[in-house]
Amino acid sequence: MKIVNFGSCNIDYVYSLDHIVGRGETEESAHRDVFAGGKGLNQSIAAARAGAPVWHAGCVGKDGEFLLDTLKSSGVDTRFVRTVDGPSGHAVIQVSAKGENAIFILAGANGMFDCAYVDSVLSHFGAGDLVILQNEINNNKYIISRAKEKGMLTLLNPSPVNAAIGELDLSSIDYLILNEIEGEHLTGEREPEKIVTALRARYKGLTVILTLGEKGSVFVSSRGTCRQAAFEVDAVDTTAAGDTFTGYFVSSLYRGMPPKEGLRLASAASALAVGKKGAAPSIPLYGEVTEALPSMREKEEKSDRAKEFIDTVNAFLLEDLAGASLGTLSARLGYSPSHTGQLIVRYTGKTFSEYLLRLRLTAAADLLRSSSLPIAEIIRATGYSNESFFRNKFKEIYGVTPLRYRNGVE
Ligand code: ADP
Repeated sequence: MKIVNFGSCNIDYVYSLDHIVGRGETEESAHRDVFAGGKGLNQSIAAARAGAPVWHAGCVGKDGEFLLDTLKSSGVDTRFVRTVDGPSGHAVIQVSAKGENAIFILAGANGMFDCAYVDSVLSHFGAGDLVILQNEINNNKYIISRAKEKGMLTLLNPSPVNAAIGELDLSSIDYLILNEIEGEHLTGEREPEKIVTALRARYKGLTVILTLGEKGSVFVSSRGTCRQAAFEVDAVDTTAAGDTFTGYFVSSLYRGMPPKEGLRLASAASALAVGKKGAAPSIPLYGEVTEALPSMREKEEKSDRAKEFIDTVNAFLLEDLAGASLGTLSARLGYSPSHTGQLIVRYTGKTFSEYLLRLRLTAAADLLRSSSLPIAEIIRATGYSNESFFRNKFKEIYGVTPLRYRNGVE
């Protein structure tokens, strides 16, 4: 399978300013950075760094030489990239001292994909090859129809989402990779399940991969559904998370990986990208992802085991919160009290009594919010015989007395 990406290449001009310039205002920028960008370029780089053979089909102006260098140095084949008259697509980005931004973009060369160019590129590809597309270039409709005529597979990332997406024939798309905002735009639905169901009902045979930010991702095709939680990472910059995900998912198709493994690879790569600043520079190499995956999975399995253990413990304790003790819990779990205590510390970071205290306070806060039971009764029901002890602990954790908490919430 060969992969061709008809996609944007942008120059990002980033100006550092004290504040975002308003109407009629002039301010001198202290500094300008110039970065390679564009969803097309990022996705080609991600797929190539993931080890897939990628040809980028794009248009740049004479000012876009460094965009080509950026693609080439990541292993993308740029022989089909066309240099046209006029400026490359670019974004002018103001960044204020407070970190706010204001952006305008010019499509420039990204708006110059004419039919003859599309045909000449596609003449090098055939049935079974994959075309990838985003929504930052013109003529996507023509590209999709020609690709289908040739028996190629099509993958669309409808980003950034706008009215132009409505003009595309999504029934000619094989793989749709989108985030929740794009999903809502296309279906009017907000919940992930409903977005996927609506898309699959409208376009039979469409494989949908919905990304959910730090909540992970879901893959749904006629062969079934699989989900992947996001890998835990200290998020530094989420720019290009989606592009990294798409490029790596594309590489999983090239490698013939089952969907579950493809999602896992794409999630690990995008988690690594989120942990680093920048767009293209944050996209990891395949080797970096495979090296990080075992420890990411180990962490994931540990947290799954922890979640399962905590769910079981909570269920037992909540059955009789007033009568709960380490003795009754360990008898239910079938462990000795000391082993149970050790597991609680391992999975919750708290001793049993600290954990039980928190659970009782949370249950009491829930009842204060959701019922009109007298406070003294709530205190008894959640297991406190000493009312003033409860009131002090509640104030320590929630910052207000139970009464103020109830009134504040109401
Ligand atoms: P987009 O950048 O297009 O809005 P998402 O925000 O849905 O896309 O992110 C794409 C993927 O990147 C997610 O499915 C997830 O695997 C990964 N990801 C995004 N944010 C985080 C995060 N904070 N921690 C770990 N992984 C993340």
